Amino acid sequence: NPVLVWFREDFRLADNAALSAAVGTGRPVLCVFVLDAATFPGGAARWWLAGALRALDAALRAHGGALHVLRGAAGHLIPELARGSRAVAVHWNRRYDPAGRGVDAALKVALRQIGVAGHSFAGALLHEPWTIRTRGGAPFQMFTPFWRAACAFGGPRPPLPAPADLSFAQLPETFEESRVAPAGFGLLPATPDWAAGLREEWEPGEAAAQECLTRFLAEDLAAYGRERDTPAAEGTSRLSPYLRFGHVTPAQIWQAVADSGQEATKFLTELGWREFAWSLLFQHEDLARRNLRGVFDGLPWRTDPEGLRAWQTGRTGYPLVDAGMRQLWRTGWMHNRVRMVVASFLVKHLLIDWRHGEAWFADTLVDHDPASNPMNWQWSAGTGVDAAPFFRIMNPVTQSEKFDPGGDYIRRWVPELAAVPANLIHAPWVAGAGALGAHGVVLGRDYPAPIVDHRQARARALAVWTALRNG
Ligand code: FAD
Repeated sequence: NPVLVWFREDFRLADNAALSAAVGTGRPVLCVFVLDAATFPGGAARWWLAGALRALDAALRAHGGALHVLRGAAGHLIPELARGSRAVAVHWNRRYDPAGRGVDAALKVALRQIGVAGHSFAGALLHEPWTIRTRGGAPFQMFTPFWRAACAFGGPRPPLPAPADLSFAQLPETFEESRVAPAGFGLLPATPDWAAGLREEWEPGEAAAQECLTRFLAEDLAAYGRERDTPAAEGTSRLSPYLRFGHVTPAQIWQAVADSGQEATKFLTELGWREFAWSLLFQHEDLARRNLRGVFDGLPWRTDPEGLRAWQTGRTGYPLVDAGMRQLWRTGWMHNRVRMVVASFLVKHLLIDWRHGEAWFADTLVDHDPASNPMNWQWSAGTGVDAAPFFRIMNPVTQSEKFDPGGDYIRRWVPELAAVPANLIHAPWVAGAGALGAHGVVLGRDYPAPIVDHRQARARALAVWTALRNG
């Protein structure tokens, strides 16, 4: 009788507690994934999911097994499969998003009813989201004391090696598998094929995650503190989608950083933000829907479909904003500094509800994460508990001058401005038609004029804030 290992967001063999414990029983394992519409990610992450399934299947095949992909409601399918395969137990690694937790809690009950053990394991975080608490036992609301307490708690447990000897059970014939070919489980775009940029940029899978980590430690960690805010430098790890899909665990990263012997406080603090996001989502299930500061419920957001569309498509006329939004559309990823700038622009310059931005990111990011995305949007909008105040309005031009001084990031993603020199590229409308024309650009023809004036937009946002504060 096998142990059923249900993979979800843990596409790896190493440091996979659910798999290692199953193998440790000495029984054959039956490895499954369920395509369940109730927990489907957004478009770009679906593309990644198809690649993750392929890569894990290939890794299991190298050991003589396979990943069996079924389609349906996991809450029903898993108990059916446990019964159909006469499994003695079902193992999985825990997830902490509200929808997933609901399915898993109901599953435990359903398995108990049919006399099958359900065992869940930790692995997606350094510490379980209920672990790091104040002295009084309450969850933290502010990042700095949270991270201080997390560091005092100690490092994560050492990561587990991949199991060496795996023996596999067959899928019972009564269960129909979904096939990878021809359309990647129906997860990939048909027409138009918007995934070309994603394919060029990324390779999903555990091996690719380890390569990414190794390269980052060797080439970029030493300069991380200096380079992490420079989008053109590409000095960050780009591990986010690998973490999102569990190709690599934070415990593995923690260990690899320690083994490298390098100073990495700043980088590890970023992993801390990820932990904090999950601890917030664990407390506030509606983090993506509700302003954590209720005073913002009265903010008169503007309805502006054209402004939203200009932002989504990278045609606001602010080059750094447009570069970021186009990088996102093309590659499914955006540099963190630019994410902050575009988020601030949507919320404060356009006064569009942050939830529209959150939803767009959810659909277009390969690293979209149900905790980090809403936490960061609420941080940018000022509606979060530990957030940038609403009245601090990022100036997209000075951000551009400071963090992309040579304009290289802009030129890469906004090719219309490729010939424009650094002194004109951050605010091309200031240059005047003659100066811009000398570089082949006519504003309004080749590149949009700004859709809002910074000074006016700033004054409008501040007026709204003042009115809100005064009730
Ligand atoms: P690195 O700088 O190398 O950091 C290492 C890891 O730390 C990242 O992979 C990530 O797991 C974590 N991390 C870094 N910064 C943050 C942060 N601010 N919050 C939480 N975790 C962080 N990150 C996501 O993983 N998914 C999202 O959906 C997401 N949405 C965001 C939305 C907005 C509006 C903003 C401002 C930020 C968002 N972030 C999100 C955080 C951050 O931008 C990305 O994690 C980071 O850019 C990923 O690149 P990296 O792996 O090279 O990061």
